[in-house]
Amino acid sequence: MRKMSNGSQNQTMKLSKNSWILILIFIVLLLFFSVLFFFRSKPEYVSKVEIALGTTIKVVVSSEKDPGLIVDAILREFHRIDNKFSVTDPKSVISRINNSDNPFEIDEETAFVIERSLALARATEGAFDPALGNLITLWGFDKINDSAFEPYIPSDDEIEEVLKKCGYENVILENDVVILQNSVKLDLGGIVKGYAIDRGISIAKEMDPDANGYIDAGRDIGIIGPKFGGEYWSIAVKDPRGEGSEYIDLVYLKKGTIVTSGDYERFFLVDGVRYHHILNPKTGYPVRETISTTIIAPDAMDADAFSTAAFVLGSEFSAVLIPVLGGQGLFVNAQNEQTRTEGWAFFKEKH
Ligand code: AMP
Ligand code: MG
Repeated sequence: MRKMSNGSQNQTMKLSKNSWILILIFIVLLLFFSVLFFFRSKPEYVSKVEIALGTTIKVVVSSEKDPGLIVDAILREFHRIDNKFSVTDPKSVISRINNSDNPFEIDEETAFVIERSLALARATEGAFDPALGNLITLWGFDKINDSAFEPYIPSDDEIEEVLKKCGYENVILENDVVILQNSVKLDLGGIVKGYAIDRGISIAKEMDPDANGYIDAGRDIGIIGPKFGGEYWSIAVKDPRGEGSEYIDLVYLKKGTIVTSGDYERFFLVDGVRYHHILNPKTGYPVRETISTTIIAPDAMDADAFSTAAFVLGSEFSAVLIPVLGGQGLFVNAQNEQTRTEGWAFFKEKH
């Protein structure tokens, strides 16, 4: 009996020794695969910075395919759109429309961008107006980045005269033909960056549906896909009166776009007064009541137009209108007071 019991005890000892070896192998394998998974789940990001559309374009992409190719394709698209929709390049489609005798025949893409611009002008009661070309030229904001730029403050009379040659109601779009009435000129500067971001995201997705990363076009940001394939990107909203990287809010996005308009982007100072690039289509002067607007929306084109419109409309009205149009916003008025739409809080949490 004792022998038997000793034998079975040895067997148990032997079995447990084997089990230990198995457990050890299991742990080693687990560690090995965890390390492998850790490195696989945090793929490398390829990033590149170039200047287009008058600002710095940073493209950051990760892909199982060729992320470098995707980054280059997105940047090429930005340059193409820049050339095509420029108001200063005489060869651009916009310049040719502006300088031609109407009607002018346009391609499908140009028709799409103008049509959307007109729809957004109507939706924002003309606060976003794509036909302010003459007014923007009078102030010189189309040439503010030129080395020869000289600040010039137009007189009230000049502004009044030029406002007669402004306004989206004077733009007629019929299929593939555009007609500009009353000598108005197009300036799509308030929307074209957003359009380029939307196009960049589409191109990335066409090349690899699982690509992720983001496009940052001078603080107008479009998400290509969640960080490392599943995590949130943390995005800071710049403090409009802060130095460098100071920020007033932090939001989390896995998709969609966040676009900011600020009076610090393109401006000149005369006698301590700031004259900046976002103009009130009613008065013809740079907007005084707002210093910064940030919009979160599914598409960058909408967000871009909304940020310009909200700048003109002011915090109170924008807090009501922007959610109705499908965006959320954070607005800063001239007193540096912040207003957020109700739905903004959603983006402060990682859901
Ligand atoms: P953003 O920085 O997106 O707000 O766009 C500003 C640019 O839009 C300016 O540089 C002008 O080219 C143009 N712009 C200025 N005021 C307006 C306006 N009220 N509606 C539409 N575009 C505008
Ligand atoms: Mg805009």
